Amino acid sequence: MPRRARPRLDREVARLRRVALDAAAAGLYVFPVQPGGKLPAVPRHSAERCRRRGICAEGHQGWEQRATRDRAQICRWWSGDESARFNVGIACGPSGIVVIDLDTSTEPVADWGGATTGREVLDQLAARHGETLTDTYSVRTPTDGEHVYYRMPEGLQLRNTHGGHGHSLGPLIDTRAGGGFVVGAGSVRPEGAYLVAEHGQIAALPAWLATLLTPPPAPQRPTTTRSALSTKRANAYIAAILRDETDKVTRAAKGRRQITLLDAARVFGQLVGGGELDADNAQAVLLEAAAAHIGIDGFTRAEAERTVTRGMNYGMQAPRTIGHRDDPRSEIGDPDNDGEEIRS
Ligand SMILES: [Zn+2]
Repeated sequence: MPRRARPRLDREVARLRRVALDAAAAGLYVFPVQPGGKLPAVPRHSAERCRRRGICAEGHQGWEQRATRDRAQICRWWSGDESARFNVGIACGPSGIVVIDLDTSTEPVADWGGATTGREVLDQLAARHGETLTDTYSVRTPTDGEHVYYRMPEGLQLRNTHGGHGHSLGPLIDTRAGGGFVVGAGSVRPEGAYLVAEHGQIAALPAWLATLLTPPPAPQRPTTTRSALSTKRANAYIAAILRDETDKVTRAAKGRRQITLLDAARVFGQLVGGGELDADNAQAVLLEAAAAHIGIDGFTRAEAERTVTRGMNYGMQAPRTIGHRDDPRSEIGDPDNDGEEIRS
């Protein structure tokens, strides 16, 4: 039998593969990040360019969906020559982790005693709450930042936050959770390597941090009778989003009904959280869109209601506001921004 020629495994690819396999063995979901960089290398096409083939047959699969602990898949990604020297991305949501991303700045932060690092801000925050920080696994980044890993508490689905904005911990501190990723230890950039700073287990997110990161429940708003889709700030842009989402639900194929409804409910939940939409009306509109499927092939109303509740609760944790040019959080002019920060 002639031996099949196998492409030589580049030594650096082999090293990064080992890093990825170790992370997966520790329970983390990994995916390839650009060699020497910090942007996802999978998928190779955008959602807009997706031809709904192969792995995307049931809907486009982004890096968060493709992140895996599967050894065979990891070995396929990190194989061959130097073009496969991918850094190791860790998808926080699937991994069930929250990563506190501590940055540095040359500008001292006035309100925080002139702090120039997120670490100083976090220490002061702990002191203000009469708490100390639990020892946990952490990683030093090539730019002197720090990634502090925590396990997501059961039942909590936190999303990313940005330093000094909305529901964040403070300036120079971002958090990466659902919809976010970090570049893992063992990865390299031209500026240097990501190195383990604190070895050991990933500790549970301390309760006081979990509380600070959990958005308050959306206030109940009285329903109005102007229209089923009456928004707090009537806006054609919002109406278009709602129409698009409800159309997707109504037209969803059998195997995609639940996930499509969940996605739509998440979008609606974000708008409810941002005060753009009334919660009761949003729920009614979603259930109406799903009504076409109820009673067909075992899809029940109870199931639809549960899915809507779950998706909306999830979405409300990442509030979205739209439509005010003088509002710095406004998304007008940036329709591609889906509110999910993926930078690490
Ligand atoms: Zn695709």
